[in-house]
Amino acid sequence: MLQRIISRSSFLTTTSPSRLLSPVRATARLLTTPTCPRYAAQPIQQYQQQQEQHSQPRPHSCQGDMGSKGHVEPPKTGWKGAIPSQKGGSEEGYILKPPYYWHSDDFEAKYKSSCWCGRVKFEFHGDPITAKHCHCNQCQVLHGAPFQYAAVFHKTSVRLSHQTDPTNLNFFSTHRKEDGHDVPCKIACSHCHSPLLDEGRNMVMAYPSTFNFKDGQIPASFASKGHIFYSEAIVEFDDGVPSKCGRKTA
Ligand SMILES: [Zn+2]
Ligand SMILES: [Zn+2]
Repeated sequence: MLQRIISRSSFLTTTSPSRLLSPVRATARLLTTPTCPRYAAQPIQQYQQQQEQHSQPRPHSCQGDMGSKGHVEPPKTGWKGAIPSQKGGSEEGYILKPPYYWHSDDFEAKYKSSCWCGRVKFEFHGDPITAKHCHCNQCQVLHGAPFQYAAVFHKTSVRLSHQTDPTNLNFFSTHRKEDGHDVPCKIACSHCHSPLLDEGRNMVMAYPSTFNFKDGQIPASFASKGHIFYSEAIVEFDDGVPSKCGRKTA
């Protein structure tokens, strides 16, 4: 069943199921069939209302309790200024600041990610602060997948590879529902449209399925610390990882 689920999710196309769930071995099963009888049994008007409610932008309010223990000092990557776009929105010259096209001799690229067509590559200094699975409907729709699996980095621990032309980036504002750099926003390749990052005010969420791990195995530091918005899950995990904002049945 897991194989069926994985094979249906577009964002997992470059990653085998064993890699994705490593190092936390997990089993998962579909909570609904692909035709989703939970909705099919309801009048179409009610279904449309639910979709409209789900599509409303909202904060991931339970993220603050997903495994990160309070404030974590960013590593010294050489960025001297304030965190770019920390108050939200956008600021002048953002493309030449973290997490985009900037340079520092103190930045050591431990990990690299790439979109499907290879035009956009990001680099990451050090290990993620935490990682999580988000089961909210917004992530399901935006990723075309049953859940979002993301690793969280300080914004100043991320930069665009210097082989990447920044004009290949596409920015999408979920709260305005239109293109444009407006933090918090989503970043994808403008050619193959692979989702690559979510830029928040202080942090960046990156998707491990886009990383080129050296030995083909996901490092322990990328292990999920929690399932959030689990009440909206369409696949059920029995992996021993706690859930937030919803049920978790074994
Ligand atoms: Zn691409
Ligand atoms: Zn989500």
